[in-house]
Amino acid sequence: MIELKNISKSFKTPRGTFHALKNVSLQIPQGAIFGIIGTSGAGKSTLIRCVNLLERPDSGQVIVDDINLLELSAKELTLKRREIGMIFQHFNLLSSRTVYDNVAFSLELAGISKKEIKHRVEELLELVGLTEKRNDYPASLSGGQKQRVAIARTLANNPKVLLCDEATSALDPATTRSILNLIKNINNKLNITILLITHQMEVVRAICDTVAVISHGEVIEHGTLSEIFTSA
Ligand code: ADP
Ligand code: ADP
Repeated sequence: MIELKNISKSFKTPRGTFHALKNVSLQIPQGAIFGIIGTSGAGKSTLIRCVNLLERPDSGQVIVDDINLLELSAKELTLKRREIGMIFQHFNLLSSRTVYDNVAFSLELAGISKKEIKHRVEELLELVGLTEKRNDYPASLSGGQKQRVAIARTLANNPKVLLCDEATSALDPATTRSILNLIKNINNKLNITILLITHQMEVVRAICDTVAVISHGEVIEHGTLSEIFTSA
């Protein structure tokens, strides 16, 4: 379970202080596929980045499995972050490494044996359907394939939570559907909680069970998919 309690975040700009998040509170149950939707500039990206403290809120609490991340030491936070995977709109793969080595990278850093890494990477590549591409470089892959690599890479750490920052926004509709299906599968099979942000209603309709609508740094609506969209 993830709880965001009274999160506020402002940025200093040349024109003064800009309040990107104003007292946002949300509860994301274990196992949910939770969507945060809003227009560009609403504060979605700032909010999702607060969940793993890529962005530190000015005030409030970020509680993951009963632990307030803001109270952790740097070392404790590093460990906790392994439980919180993240994928991005532009994939952020290492271009000088093959598909295999992108997925293996964090396992190598963790000092896991070569044999164990190989087993794990092969398993993950199979899960995301990229076994045949293992020796290819990111530049030769389609957008959807790149996102599959990014998903396999983040799953390598066995996260409990997967944060998706506009993960399908750079993809065409058919590829978007296939990546959303993969995310749904991961939620189902591996019992990983999914928190996604998007500006696309189709994404929320396709996979989310719960939705929060954010506007100008505030949550203006919050409920199950049917509660939010009954009148639509
Ligand atoms: P969204 O993801 O919904 O498009 P963001 O969270 O990226 O929105 O941004 C919300 C608002 O905060 C925007 O107006 C943006 O310009 C501003 N903002 C975000 N990050 C910064 C920053 N580092 N410095 C100044 N303003 C920022
Ligand atoms: P073994 O020693 O058991 O033969 P290898 O390490 O030689 O294992 O790898 C065998 C297969 O595993 C390779 O053909 C390849 O499919 C996969 N593999 C292992 N390491 C890599 C890597 N760095 N990049 C891509 N594939 C790899």
